[in-house]
Amino acid sequence: MNKKGILIIISGFSGAGKGSVVKELLSKGDYILSISSTTRAPREYEEHGREYFFDTRDDFESMIDNNELIEWASYCDNYYGTPRKFVENNLEQGKNVILEIEMQGALDVKAQYDDAVLIFITAPSVAELKARLEKRGTESSDIINKRLKRSYEEAEVINKYDYIVVNDDLQKCANDINTIINAEHKRANRSGELKDRLKDEFAELLKGEI
Ligand code: 5GP
Repeated sequence: MNKKGILIIISGFSGAGKGSVVKELLSKGDYILSISSTTRAPREYEEHGREYFFDTRDDFESMIDNNELIEWASYCDNYYGTPRKFVENNLEQGKNVILEIEMQGALDVKAQYDDAVLIFITAPSVAELKARLEKRGTESSDIINKRLKRSYEEAEVINKYDYIVVNDDLQKCANDINTIINAEHKRANRSGELKDRLKDEFAELLKGEI
């Protein structure tokens, strides 16, 4: 019997610590992370095929034209997108597939996959977000400002997510998300196979009486 995987979308303000939370979550169960394509330059510690597929704008645009992306968005002057094949193959195999993507793409995926679970991660305060971005030191102050402005716009739309989780303590945040996903697996509307089996068993037991 094939358990159906859940498509999990994790978004959050820049600096909320999404990457660390996702890393932690991956160690907690049957999760697999989709690697996105992007046109932004790699950070010093990033590797092609590990954090992202770092592609040219031409490559990216031809992926759009060939319908190879489930969704894509422009974020602070760069393209980001989710390769379709990887996601579809892994969901079919019953894996919980994590997309760590921004809001516009998240809502686009939700429109296509009605049963996707949307989780938004934030730091406890805006001051903390700004401090984390500055401490990370991977972006210029110009880009940090762009990202904070984008976060301000995103704050308006958080209510479209299914869950919001505060990342104050990394372990607790990852545990909270794992608990949410375990509960999602138990939703009655995801349990069609169990329902069908139980009905068959009743029919067998009550043969001749119903
Ligand atoms: P960063 O440059 O900090 O790695 O990512 C910038 C933003 O792009 C983050 O909010 C991240 O979640 C989002 N992002 C990463 N990959 C994708 C993707 O495939 N699609 C979309 N829509 N957003 C993405």
